[in-house]
Amino acid sequence: MPDLATLPTGSNRPLRHPDELVRAGLVPPERLAELERVAQRYAVAITPAMADLIDAADPNDPIARQFVPDGRELDHGPEELADPIGDHSHSPVKGIVHRYPDRVLLKPSHACPVYCRFCFRREMVGPGGDALDPAEFARAIQYISDHPEIWEVVITGGDPLMLSSRRLQELVAALDAIPHVAVIRFHSRVPVVDPARIDAKLVAALATDKALWIAVHANHARELGEPQAAACRRLSHAGIPLLGQTVLLKGVNDDVGALTDLFRRLVALRIKPYYLHHGDLAPGTAQFRTSIDEGQALMRALRGAISGLCQPTYVLDIPGGHGKAPIGPAFAMAEGQGRWLVSDFRGGSHLYPPVAPDNR
Ligand SMILES: *Cc1c(COP(=O)(O)O)cnc(C)c1O
Repeated sequence: MPDLATLPTGSNRPLRHPDELVRAGLVPPERLAELERVAQRYAVAITPAMADLIDAADPNDPIARQFVPDGRELDHGPEELADPIGDHSHSPVKGIVHRYPDRVLLKPSHACPVYCRFCFRREMVGPGGDALDPAEFARAIQYISDHPEIWEVVITGGDPLMLSSRRLQELVAALDAIPHVAVIRFHSRVPVVDPARIDAKLVAALATDKALWIAVHANHARELGEPQAAACRRLSHAGIPLLGQTVLLKGVNDDVGALTDLFRRLVALRIKPYYLHHGDLAPGTAQFRTSIDEGQALMRALRGAISGLCQPTYVLDIPGGHGKAPIGPAFAMAEGQGRWLVSDFRGGSHLYPPVAPDNR
């Protein structure tokens, strides 16, 4: 069993069962059977911090859409993949994914504070999921230690900030002791979905002289209220630089207004938007996926409309384990002979260089 942070009790306990969601008024009773079918297949959890934000009267509520199960999750399309980004093909030892030469993923546990309905690792994650036991953890650390080309360790899962503060401190200390590891990066949804968990003890557990970054997963500005702002402040005041990662989700954030509000809110909280992920081909997530054309049109509209600080890179994780590729709109088109047609933020086009080179 993973040594997860003591599960909160009483009012801070996540909702895990469809009948709890009905009793909390988040879904009408007539949907109970539908939700139970989904819950048999995929993990469910909604933290009180997120449940409180759901407007049950709004059938299109962007928070509910991310966390409340939906019968369509059981409709699996032929193009969908259990391991959509090819984690398994690059896993040399349990808990490690080594796809790029200079960085690895380390996945200490598969538990999350919430289970997002569009999760790309939905076939792997779950409460009590396949966590590393102490021997497996030691082997994963040994692998990193044995590979001097590993400059950065990206800790993901599951959600690594679900580990107890004691386990987090051991993890950071283990990586601290490996001289070639320069950067420790956590990817987490905890600052958003369980902000109270980011307390002084957790922040102290992350103390290191190495660069420790945290990438915070947020998809809608409404997820980032005052408790979340306070949690992010506790991290940034401890000298931890924050990045934002967002999944482009139909019906949640696939419009210019929603993305503008989200990216501005992130930057105002000292979180630099890093990636906007195109939806992965995870089973039963078709209702969330936009087309790449739609994603490019959104990125084009944001360029120039909002600060450069607010612009993430729009990326696709190529199925089969080929890594991430930037798939944003192109602003420069080769015209031949070293000349380019460059578009400005209003949609105008300009030749570069403006005057043809003299080729006498
Ligand atoms: C996403 C990912 C990384 C990190 O990629 P960056 O572009 O550095 O953020 C590293 N390894 C694997 C296997 C990944 O999927």
